[in-house]
Amino acid sequence: ERAREILERADERGDNRLGVEAMDLLDAYGIPTPEGTIAEDPEDAVSAAQDIEGSVVMKIVSPDILHKSDIGGVKVGVEPEDVYDAYEDLVTRARNYQPDAEILGVQVQEMVDLDSGTETIIGMNRDPQFGPLLLFGLGGIFVEILEDTETRVAPVSEREATEMVEGIRSAPLLRGARGRDPADREAIVESLQRLSQLVTDFPAILELDVNPLVAGPDGVQAVDVRLTVD
Ligand code: ADP
Ligand code: MG
Repeated sequence: ERAREILERADERGDNRLGVEAMDLLDAYGIPTPEGTIAEDPEDAVSAAQDIEGSVVMKIVSPDILHKSDIGGVKVGVEPEDVYDAYEDLVTRARNYQPDAEILGVQVQEMVDLDSGTETIIGMNRDPQFGPLLLFGLGGIFVEILEDTETRVAPVSEREATEMVEGIRSAPLLRGARGRDPADREAIVESLQRLSQLVTDFPAILELDVNPLVAGPDGVQAVDVRLTVD
């Protein structure tokens, strides 16, 4: 099973904190992710960008740097001719931040349309008393400011997942308030159930966040992930 392999490989490296190198975990559970690969050198990055076409997003991949934009580790809208230099720049920034950081490479990812979508967050935290708590809320900066989230104990039924999505105070935003495109709420519900299944299958996953899960009019895309494993 693909998901098990990803966790085993991380374990062999001695990493118990994972970032976008674990994107395939989501993919293996049917949570949609943008096209993306982890390049291990600048040439690699250039050819990965060629496969994607158009401008790309580039992110430093390091178990020591899980809040990538805090250190300037995310570049959005990189043009093909700038990919080589962007790779080196991202590695330099990471080294400046932490000279001995373990760097796995740079993720080259397809651009996701944030204008027609809403940044949401789905996640899980194991509570000593209640067990695995699934979380849904608005992502990006909103998540901290609004404290507008819903939680349920995993595994969740379709009905519970729907309650989570419809239960946040900002739900009207997802339904298309103020002339916005309504978000595909069924796709969010499905992703919550798939995440529920993932964390139920792998008790070793202690916490996991997909932030953002971009909810567009036709489906969702998990753009970023971080998790902690036992
Ligand atoms: P981190 O949370 O570690 O800083 P993210 O991967 O979440 O890194 O990237 C930070 C922000 O950059 C996201 O919240 C999103 O707004 C933007 N972003 C990241 N990846 C993409 C993408 N593929 N397409 C469009 N915007 C992106
Ligand atoms: Mg993020």
